[in-house]
Amino acid sequence: MKLLLATRNTHKVKEIVALLAGTNIQVVSALDFPGMPDVVEDRDTIEGNAIKKARECAAYAGMPAIADDTGLFVDALDGRPGAFAARYAGEGCSYADNRLKMLARMEGVTRRNAQFRTVVAFATPTELVATTTGEVRGTITLAEEGSGGFGYDPIFRADETGLTFGMMDAAAKHAISHRGRAMAAMIPILKEFLAK
Ligand code: IMP
Repeated sequence: MKLLLATRNTHKVKEIVALLAGTNIQVVSALDFPGMPDVVEDRDTIEGNAIKKARECAAYAGMPAIADDTGLFVDALDGRPGAFAARYAGEGCSYADNRLKMLARMEGVTRRNAQFRTVVAFATPTELVATTTGEVRGTITLAEEGSGGFGYDPIFRADETGLTFGMMDAAAKHAISHRGRAMAAMIPILKEFLAK
């Protein structure tokens, strides 16, 4: 089965291709469709945005597509930035801007628990097939630790390893990450769809 990853984020493409290794699913991404319009992520929830991306990209490319949307939910900030994690420091901000804003906002805060949550949506050009969710719990660090990964990775310490995602190699991160878990739940659904 040819499957479209509805993203131009090379970090995500790399992670998802690694997660699908060992299946006979042939992956293409939005990078292979330079003319594909960007999907406007204007829903209030990560589920809404993931479904919108998967459906619009599947319809454009004429093939099944999966899309993921991730939120970072910080307890002391009442769940913010949540679905708005990409633009936390403002429109057009960098990953580093977001990390700096989060560290500044959390200065002096002792309750530092947070969760990354990913929804993966799988759609054909005509219908939504399924959504899956993955979650990982951790804490926001006091300063950046590690330089691997992307986004908030250097300031998110996973409870399960005691290390930030920025300190973990890709395989160790995939094994416990929000995206890894949401994709792991989606793989049997993709395989079942393929077998039909
Ligand atoms: P998106 O909407 O799924 O692209 O993700 C929203 C924001 O969450 C982006 O700014 C990313 O930096 C951040 N993000 C998504 N996935 C990860 C991750 O695995 N680690 C760190 N940050 C992430």
